[in-house]
Amino acid sequence: MREHDRLFIGGDWTAPSGTGTIDVVSPHTEEVVGRVPDGTAADIDAAVAAARHAFDHGPWPRMTPAERAEIIGRLAAIYAERQQEMADLVTAEMGSPILFSIFGQAALPQMVLQYHADLAASFTWEEERAGMLGPVTVTREPVGVVAAIYPWNVPQFTLMLKLAPALVAGCTVVAKPSPEAPLDGFLLAEWIREAGVPDGVVNIVPAGREVGAHLVAHPGVDKVAFTGSTDAGRRIGAVCGERLKACTLELGGKSAAIILPDADLAATVEGLKMASLMNNGEACAAQTRILAPRARYDEVADALAAMVGGLAVGDPADYGTEIGPLVARRQRERVEGYIRIGQEEGAKIITGGLSRPHDRGWYVTPTLFGDVSNDMRVAREEIFGPVLALIPYDDEDDAVRIANDSDYGLGGSVWTADVAHGVEVARRVRTGSCGVNLYVLDPNTPFGGYKDSGLGRELGPEGVSPYLEYKAIPRPS
Ligand code: NAD
Repeated sequence: MREHDRLFIGGDWTAPSGTGTIDVVSPHTEEVVGRVPDGTAADIDAAVAAARHAFDHGPWPRMTPAERAEIIGRLAAIYAERQQEMADLVTAEMGSPILFSIFGQAALPQMVLQYHADLAASFTWEEERAGMLGPVTVTREPVGVVAAIYPWNVPQFTLMLKLAPALVAGCTVVAKPSPEAPLDGFLLAEWIREAGVPDGVVNIVPAGREVGAHLVAHPGVDKVAFTGSTDAGRRIGAVCGERLKACTLELGGKSAAIILPDADLAATVEGLKMASLMNNGEACAAQTRILAPRARYDEVADALAAMVGGLAVGDPADYGTEIGPLVARRQRERVEGYIRIGQEEGAKIITGGLSRPHDRGWYVTPTLFGDVSNDMRVAREEIFGPVLALIPYDDEDDAVRIANDSDYGLGGSVWTADVAHGVEVARRVRTGSCGVNLYVLDPNTPFGGYKDSGLGRELGPEGVSPYLEYKAIPRPS
């Protein structure tokens, strides 16, 4: 049991203003495994004041990128040493299978930190240009106080996509974890103190939606960086628009994996185990629509059914587990609701269904729907669980049409023996990323969505830009 009775504000453990607490419940045992203060609007006010002070008066925005990178590098080194602890903690609070956690909930966030520490040396912070009347210095300045609001499914990763570029840019941050997965933020806060990040540069206040909305609208916040559902993203974007605040939105997805007729089926299905079902299917970029050529449909259905039906479902702390429990009872209801909807719509359950694999814990049986048409709700809406929809297509144009016939545009993949041709098909898919024979989020390259999947990009040098303003300083020659 991990109990915290203070919040990380102004570089110190600070008593919360309210008395409310958030119980963190293990999705495996359904028992309480942690308790943290439930942040209030007053706590947010205190955190924004601390971040504002650290930005307006502190050394952080005025330090050189290299000086900031040194401190970020120290944090990355502490992270690297203790990442197993982080992986275990995230698995305990939200049910990610430990083998996925070690990579996705700990190693990957650490890599993102290290990437940004290294990027400081090569990023173009300033340049001289020839202007109309003389030389112009074009420089980049930190945008100010950043609100980082993120979900429970990959809490450290989605936080780090915001925190690392904000820090290297010279911004200060108020981070708001979700009530489902707040514990990892407290562990990170300890490391932030140890690394010597100046007081007030990072503040962490777990809270629910209403308090999150207070943070978004706060006049002391200059930029909002949000990862979460499309509905919440729309509301946040509207508030930012009203106040002319910068914002980046990383939202939902319903990505397609296009299996071309020449694909090596065994390798494809093995690749889809990760690309479609990573993190219990609770992944924004999961390739949950599988597009199969009609001529090979039965063969693909059989191979996928063997993979999905053979997944080891159980205790997420067990190294043999491939699918753990869903984050909450509510999430299980949602996923089971979609399994019902799929049946009502006329999709066929090839494997899985509504029987629960365990009596205790919020488990569902990994499910593969066949005979899905792209207008069914199970093909259009984000389910956020281990449920896949197999959709037949006629030819390559039809496959691309189906992949693009979605409100979302986050990820995707193409599976083929001809990689060069796969790249050509990937170019036609209207999403922020589309892999060939794999799907990966790479710290070095931009990640984000078209359409209802969001606005802006995180990662790569492109992901630092939203944390910077341009400034031109012209002068006579
Ligand atoms: P959610 O939108 O309910 O909540 C996400 C976070 O936003 C939480 O911290 C929540 O407290 C806060 N929040 C919700 N409404 C808010 C509001 N109006 N103002 C301020 N804060 C608010 O999402 P969730 O159910 O926790 O997470 C799952 C969703 O996140 C899925 O849709 C998934 O696709 C998406 N996601 C997207 C990415 C990406 O990079 N595109 C990555 C991971 C998850």
